[in-house]
Parts: sequence; structure tokens; C-alpha cells
Amino acid sequence: MSEVLKSYNPADGSPVGEVKITSEEELKAIVKRSAAAQKKWAAFSIDERISILQKAGHALEMESRQIGSLLSMEMGKGWRRAVGEVGGSAKSISFVASKVKEALEPVVSEGYGMRTTIKYDPIGVCGIISPWNYPVSMAHWMIIPALTAGNSVVLKPSEETPLVAKAYVDALNKVLPEDIIQIVFGDDRQGKALVNSDVNFIGFTGSMEAGKNILKAAADSLKPVMMELGGKDPLIVLEDADIDDAVSFAIANSLENAGQMCISTERVFVDEKIADEFEKKAAHYISYYKVGPYTDPQAHVGPIINERQRRRIISHIDDALSKGAGLLAGCSGEDHPAPYIIPTILTNVTDEMLVAKEETFGPVVCITRFSDVEDAIRSANGTEYGLGAVVYGEKDAAEVASRLDAGMIGINTSAGGGGDTPWVGAKMSGYGYHGSPDGHRQFTQPRVISEVVRYQKEGQYED
Ligand code: NAD
Repeated sequence: MSEVLKSYNPADGSPVGEVKITSEEELKAIVKRSAAAQKKWAAFSIDERISILQKAGHALEMESRQIGSLLSMEMGKGWRRAVGEVGGSAKSISFVASKVKEALEPVVSEGYGMRTTIKYDPIGVCGIISPWNYPVSMAHWMIIPALTAGNSVVLKPSEETPLVAKAYVDALNKVLPEDIIQIVFGDDRQGKALVNSDVNFIGFTGSMEAGKNILKAAADSLKPVMMELGGKDPLIVLEDADIDDAVSFAIANSLENAGQMCISTERVFVDEKIADEFEKKAAHYISYYKVGPYTDPQAHVGPIINERQRRRIISHIDDALSKGAGLLAGCSGEDHPAPYIIPTILTNVTDEMLVAKEETFGPVVCITRFSDVEDAIRSANGTEYGLGAVVYGEKDAAEVASRLDAGMIGINTSAGGGGDTPWVGAKMSGYGYHGSPDGHRQFTQPRVISEVVRYQKEGQYED
């Protein structure tokens, strides 16, 4: 008897649909078919693959409204954001694939009497394991470079969002050759089975804990692993910052996607000279943010993905309040009406509070005042995470930014570069990365081909 995975609308708990959980035998057969399909896919030229992927992107874009609606229903984010996630993913294909092509051009060098060519060949079958918070784009960010490079993909989406993942894969499969991208359904058990299967590479986006487990499991076969993990991003607001800009960024980036974003602002350090004004304005700005389901056009902050995660956010708020934090907006404990967390501002947050150490992943703004910027930098760097960081300010902003231990640092703007740049975490927020020429090459097996070049006369080589 086959098991099913049921999917529920986080706003009201109603069922959205179900999928069949992939058995271990089915998973093995899927990976085997993927390996066979990959050989044919790799035999196409990269231009042919890009042309097929662009057509697949068009098919995805044509369905972005329907898939976006499903995304809203299954994950809870607002409809515009959801359609934007699907449509934006579809539109990005041409740009990303062209950058992958540039990155994978063979590199030829001469020296030591040899001509050496570095080729970037496909690595084989890529197992991609994805989270629920951006259920289309997080998978897509790894799938497109993997496919462009000539690999096939087996996707294991989050157990929270299987239906939208299926709709995404089905849309691409209207164009892609058979078995180039397949999907397996289930929770961490199917994720583990995929890691232990004959895939040649694992691309993972998710929590630090799961990342550690995956790395251990991949060790036996020495599979290359790419991991985009969680964060505890700090924002440092210096004395000469534009306060309105800094406040609006702090609130918006703490509350985006109901705080369920890897580069969400999880801690705000404000110079005490401007802290009164900052806090007053923060309380005012946050009052405009309303909770509600995606069907409510006035709602900015959707439901939390599940009750377990909502309880975790409440426990962080309550722990901070019990240790002396102030409550500037929002509420505590059972005053948060399920399935929501009322946008909350905590003040006087200190390093020993859970909300300052662990990833909260909810719509909570945590403010700490500082009199010495060295203390702010020490606290900002004082977690295991190092995904993003932001500094608002003028004179010393670049210098402070240079001392933050994160992979992506924004000055008066969000973390995360524009164009073809790495999406990269420092410390325990990442292990490998995608984006940029170096990132694209991580989806390949480099091969170094060297040949002797004969001398024509001293100092010259034959062509
Ligand atoms: P999660 O780690 O619980 O699950 C992610 C995926 O991994 C799911 O598909 C899950 O089934 C699977 N999984 C869990 N344990 C596994 C195991 N031992 N072996 C194989 N697969 C396993 O994360 P989540 O709750 O879905 O997502 C939220 C987390 O993802 C947050 O920590 C967030 O910061 C992080 N995230 C990071 C980025 C980034 O780019 N760095 C982007 C989005 C989300």
C-alpha cells in the first residue's frame, strides 16, 4: 500500500491536495532513468540545451498565475509575491543560462612545454533538495545551472510544498526531454534516500541541522555537496544613517515572507544616539503591517508555515521577554492568534536570548542599542551563522561592513549582490555556493587535458 503526503493551506488548515510518497525502489529507478537521460542531454551542445531551457521557461511563465495561486495556497505568501516568484524564475532562465555558458567555456593555457585545456564537463545526476519558504525559486536557482551544464536533476521538494513543486516540474516538462528533471516526494526520509542513492551531486537549501546530517551522509560516497543554509542576519545602524531609510528597511526585511526568509533581518543594532527616534519610527511603521491570508489584499504578513514553527517563534519572544527585553509592538505567548504571529518589536535584546542566537524565522524585529560600535560588531559576528549582514550609515559604513563575518553584505541596501554574483554564506550558513562563474562551475566536473607542444625553434611552440 502506498503512503500519501497531504498538503494543507497554512492559513486555515484546509487540504490543498496530496501526492504519493516515493518508495525507495521507485527512487532508485528514478535515479537510474535520470542517469540514462543525462547522457543524451549532455550530448546536445550547450546552445541547444539553452534554447530548450528558454522554451521551458516560456512554458513556466505562461502558467505563472496558476502556479502562483497554488504557491499562495500551499505556503501562505501573498498572491503577487507568489506569482512574481514563479514568473521571475521563468524570466531569469535566459540570463542565468548565458552566464553558465560563459563560465563553462574551456580555459586554455600554455607553459612548461604543454598546452593545457580545462574543460567543465557535466557531473551527472544532481539531487536537489529544497525548502518551503521560496518553494519555486530556491529549487530553480540550482536546477537551471545544473541543467545548462548538461546534468539531469532529481528534485526532492519540502514536504510542506509538494504540489507547487510538482506544478513547477510539470510545466518545465512540457518542453524538456523525458527524465531530465524528475521529482521525488516525501520528508527527510526521502531526502536521506536521495543523498544515499547513486546521484553524483547534492545541492541542498535548508536548515543548518539538516545540512550537517546531509554532509555526514554524503561522506561515505564522497559526493560533492553544495549547501545554502540558514542565517541570523544582523543590521547595524550607525549614527549618521538616514533614519527613515534604515527603519523602513529594518521593518520590511524583518517581516518579508512573514520573516521566513534566509536573509531576513534577525537582529538590529542601533547607535544609542539615534535609538529613541529609530524605535519611535519603527513602532509607527510596523503598525501598517497587517496579518492575514493571501486572499486578503490588505494583508502583508501571512500565516506561519506550521504550528511547530509558530510555537518556536513564540518561545523565542517569550524567552526574550523573560530575560528583560521590552515589547514595543506586537504581543507574547497565546496572544498571537493562530496561524499568525503579530509583527513584534523587541527592544533591549541581549546576546544570551534565544532570539539573538538561534534562527527565529518569524516576523520579529529585535533591537539592541550600542554605545560602542565595537560591541555591535562583536555581537553581530557572535553567532554560528554568517549568511547576510547589512550596515546603514555613511562615514564608517564601508569599514564596519568589511569587518562583518558574512558571505553577503549590503551597505544601505539589502544583502545579496546584483547580476551574476555568488549566493554565498560564511561560517555555518554555507558550504559551496551557486551564482557567479565559480558557482556555476561547481555543477561540473573539471577535466584537465594536457598535450605536449613541440618546439619549432627555441622559445617558440607550434600552434
Ligand atoms: P529543512 O532543513 O527542514 O528542510 C529542507 C529540505 O531538506 C526539505 O526538503 C526536507 O525534507 C529535507 N531534509 C531534512 N532533513 C534532511 C536530511 N537529513 N537528509 C536529506 N534531506 C533532508 O529546512 P526548511 O524548514 O524547509 O527551510 C527553512 C530553512 O532553510 C531555514 O533555515 C532557512 O534559513 C533555510 N534557507 C536557506 C536559504 C539560503 O539560500 N541560504 C534559502 C532558503 C531557506
